[in-house]
Amino acid sequence: MTAADPNPANAAPAVRRRIRVRGIVQGVGFRPTVYRLATERGLSGWVLNDAEGVLMEVEGPAAAVDDFLRTLQAERPPLARINAVEPEDAPPRGETAFRIAPSEAGRRRALISPDMAVCDDCLREMFDPADRRHRYPFINCTNCGPRYSIIRDIPYDRPNTTMARFTMCPACRAEYDDPADRRFHAQPNACPECGPHLDLRDAGGRPVAEADPVAAVRRALLDGRIVAVKGLTGFHLACDARSDDAVADLRRRKGRDQKALAMMASGARAVAERARLVDAARALLESIQRPIVLVPKREGHDLSPLLAPASPYFGFMLPYAPLHYLIFEDDFPPLVMTSGNLSEEPICRENDEALRRLAGIADLYLLHDRPIHTVCDDSVTMVQRGRPLMLRRGRGYAPRPLSLPVAAAEPVLAVGPELKNALCLARGEEAFVSQHVGDLKNALAARYFEATAERLERLLETRPAVFAHDLHPAYLSTRYARRRAREDGLRLVAVQHHHAHVASVMAEHGLTGEVLGLAMDGTGYGPDGTVWGGEVLRASAAAYKRLGHLRPIPLPGGDAAVTHPVRTAWALLLETFGPAEAEARRVGYLAGDRATDRAVWTQMILGGATPRACGLGRLFDAVSVLAGVSAENTYEGQAAIELEAAAHNARDDAPPYPFTLTAAAGGEGAWVLDPRPMVRQVVADAEAGRGAAEISARFHAAVADMLRAAARRARDETGLARVCLSGGCFANARLVERLAPALESEGFNVYAHRDVPPGDGGVALGQAYVAAARTTVDNA
Ligand SMILES: [Zn+2]
Ligand SMILES: [Zn+2]
Repeated sequence: MTAADPNPANAAPAVRRRIRVRGIVQGVGFRPTVYRLATERGLSGWVLNDAEGVLMEVEGPAAAVDDFLRTLQAERPPLARINAVEPEDAPPRGETAFRIAPSEAGRRRALISPDMAVCDDCLREMFDPADRRHRYPFINCTNCGPRYSIIRDIPYDRPNTTMARFTMCPACRAEYDDPADRRFHAQPNACPECGPHLDLRDAGGRPVAEADPVAAVRRALLDGRIVAVKGLTGFHLACDARSDDAVADLRRRKGRDQKALAMMASGARAVAERARLVDAARALLESIQRPIVLVPKREGHDLSPLLAPASPYFGFMLPYAPLHYLIFEDDFPPLVMTSGNLSEEPICRENDEALRRLAGIADLYLLHDRPIHTVCDDSVTMVQRGRPLMLRRGRGYAPRPLSLPVAAAEPVLAVGPELKNALCLARGEEAFVSQHVGDLKNALAARYFEATAERLERLLETRPAVFAHDLHPAYLSTRYARRRAREDGLRLVAVQHHHAHVASVMAEHGLTGEVLGLAMDGTGYGPDGTVWGGEVLRASAAAYKRLGHLRPIPLPGGDAAVTHPVRTAWALLLETFGPAEAEARRVGYLAGDRATDRAVWTQMILGGATPRACGLGRLFDAVSVLAGVSAENTYEGQAAIELEAAAHNARDDAPPYPFTLTAAAGGEGAWVLDPRPMVRQVVADAEAGRGAAEISARFHAAVADMLRAAARRARDETGLARVCLSGGCFANARLVERLAPALESEGFNVYAHRDVPPGDGGVALGQAYVAAARTTVDNA
């Protein structure tokens, strides 16, 4: 790999620089770019991949070397992410050529790229009848395609990927070996001669003889069938999003009754015909990560009302695998593209597994023989206050690291919470948040959790010395951390759930020192053994104090009250009006005639045998029931999401309901946000026949008002004016868009999530920051 050009710049005195580049710089076409920029400028030297990233030496006239360095940063390859460029002087050697030197092995700190959407160059080739990869669904190059999902081990070389089984043909090999080629060292490089192929199967898993499997799939979809499609990082179940029958079939077979289904559309224009698309949302849709983006529905669309029945949003993504572009060719209509699994189970990985687990769901399977080593769900995002917000972090983002404000003295594995689990492995300042793992109550998800932990450790060659975990002793993640710490004699750091939430926002914004935290979600284990979830904290990364909280709401039957919020609503009614009056003031879904159940709940509550929770999510549940919006949580947050949706077309200036902020009767001295005055007014409004839209709008205004009052009170006590918003309640755009500007107008600095979800998917990052801060303090 020696360049033939002699150095034409020998006349000027030569300088030589040794340059270290850190970041995502391997497997993304970095060395060919260096090679091209160096040879274009007549520089000599070499470049190589090593354990820490890319190392190079360049030699030539000072002006040309400076220009090289400038251009390298400006023209870095699309998938590269440069964290640091560190040049130092070196003695000139008088070389005459530039070469790409062999990789150096060793302890690796180079980063692995996420899986990325097919690039424009590859798309052009795929649709070019003269190209040798014309209509080849596995086309890729160093600028695009699979990465994290196909890597089995490091270093990132073909034998360590799931492409190892395919031997490159001479044409592909020549591209792979040519430093000037776009496919130089593109590990998944392949063509129809030598690479993976599609494999069409019928509902029973038998091969279907079809010259053009994609055409057969398009016909089946237009015919109302459900097709399992193996994509880049997992399986999807696809059907025609316009067809009520197809969507109803899919819901029934998949066991997913009400939650909104994600869709794929041929392009941003097809989305804009069906949803209101602001520029920030369009940019997210078209970004190289290609997440699902929640966008407000338009009136008069042609899609099935069964897709997202109680939501004001559609979840859309655009094609990202070459195969998707073939399916969506010529403006094919929007398809449901939901994760290929049963409800709450992780997404399928292997062909055999898909045929087994999706049996009875799919009418047809579009498989291929490029194995997926690590599955990733599609990422889910939305635009809030004009900015992107992550709601589920997966494909396209994992395992790209975020950075911690302090370096972890020893590697930390933060194991995350129980629901919406994701893990985080931190070493130094780098925090690698895993893809979405899911709810660990599910046995398949529990296995996926352990596999994800092991893969992160292996690919990053980092063994944790500290395990950060939730305070809840029974969480599967907690038990896992304890077991491993015991087996290996390692340290444990227990992190309170809402402290982790606040620390997670701090980590995202590089905050150190003390802040105020509003941590608002459903439930989380408190250090006193009670259920927290409406928390006003004074927090640093290492410690926190509970300043105030929502008044605890009884949950008759515990978890049953979370699934059936009529119980919570009744409990609030009872606490607001007393037993006799409550009976007469039943509204919404409590107005029905199920007196026996109520008698049992009343007994549980008055007898003191009922757990109580401070979760703001539980208040949303109860109001959703009283407003007649929703009586069930068939998935986490359903009643609250539907309550937010009910206000979608309500007036923006709805007057807030009242609340009270009271000092605690004793104990730890935290004050209490009492929502009972709100409940009184909700009931009065419902009795007066006011609609759910108005009640919901007034309730959202009230919650924003209450949280603003809480922040003000906390600032008066502490002098702190930085407020971090975290917890699943802040996925609620209506709440955030009222609360955040109000706080800012009063001089607060408001920090919200961006790169990790406000819900429990962001907790592991916070756990890692807390553990890093505590171990740093301990070691100081
Ligand atoms: Zn490409
Ligand atoms: Zn080939």
